[in-house]
Amino acid sequence: MAVLVCGGAGYIGSHTVKALLKRKEEVIVLDNFQQGHTEAVDDEALLYNGDLRDEAIVEEIFLNHKITSVIHFAANSLVAESVRNPLSYYDNNLYGTLCLVKAMNKYGVKQIVFSSTAAVYGDPVSTPILETDPTHPTNPYGETKLATEKMLKWCAAAYNMQYIILRYFNAAGADMGGEIGEDHNPETHLIPLVLQAALRKREKIMIYGDDYDTRDGTCIRDYIHVDDLASAHVVALEKLRRNRKSGTYNLGTEKGFSVKEVIDAACKVTGVNIVAEKAARRTGDPAVLIASSAKAKKELEWKPKYESLEEIVTSAWRWFQKYPEGYKSKSYVQ
Ligand code: UDP
Repeated sequence: MAVLVCGGAGYIGSHTVKALLKRKEEVIVLDNFQQGHTEAVDDEALLYNGDLRDEAIVEEIFLNHKITSVIHFAANSLVAESVRNPLSYYDNNLYGTLCLVKAMNKYGVKQIVFSSTAAVYGDPVSTPILETDPTHPTNPYGETKLATEKMLKWCAAAYNMQYIILRYFNAAGADMGGEIGEDHNPETHLIPLVLQAALRKREKIMIYGDDYDTRDGTCIRDYIHVDDLASAHVVALEKLRRNRKSGTYNLGTEKGFSVKEVIDAACKVTGVNIVAEKAARRTGDPAVLIASSAKAKKELEWKPKYESLEEIVTSAWRWFQKYPEGYKSKSYVQ
């Protein structure tokens, strides 16, 4: 009885693999290493280097292992890149999942936990965002995730499958043990960029817009610790096994912090006076994105453990201090 984790060498995937192994699950990871890192995957997991769109490797995995459920992270997730190259997003995110579900159906694997995103909502109609709110993505990334959600719903009905869709807000922080963390190339996310500025790896942080209708004029986001996301996958999987019931859940802390508040927290945590400069708004950024996680709390019995921004930034800072070049520096630090 094994769990197949697609994209298990990526940021959220690797933290989830670690959490699954802690629960003594047998874990098989499939990753194409476009963004993943071998060093991020715990040795106890069995690692396949390959792509979901490659039928041969997917067949090999389903033939060789008794897979009973799938957790699916494998996707591209950069908004700007998706606007420049929508076809590659439809290909990897939607078609990649189609290939996976086809194989699951062929081999009688019925349960999937799927990584989705707050980007499916587009500009929110109200705050906090509920799962029942309208979904109008404003970029191809969000569109491909929403299209995949819909495909899963139709497939579940047709093939007697069950899914849990998890819509993440802003994933942040690093493993509390300090051995795995965030390592994207290129890096576009606020917290790692601010910490790179603290490490003097970049001169300053640009604040994308300070004229939003928010308490300090900068965008407000709901930052959720990556270990809390990982624990949500574990409980979602357990819930699927127990109840065989599909559902869609937001994952956030239900608290919003502004860009300026993130920079201030990072100054406090690092003790460095981080230089920030205002810049133009980034296209497609809504002013405020805050989750209602009431449904996940009630039905999944999940609760985030790390709700303070300082705790989240501290965990990321620990990782970046120890491994300033990310996984590349793991070999020479240890
Ligand atoms: N942001 C910023 N400067 C940066 C990167 C991000 O001001 O160098 C802002 C961005 O406009 C957004 C927030 O920080 O309001 C979080 O952005 P991130 O890219 O981390 O996540 P997103 O909300 O886009 O998923």
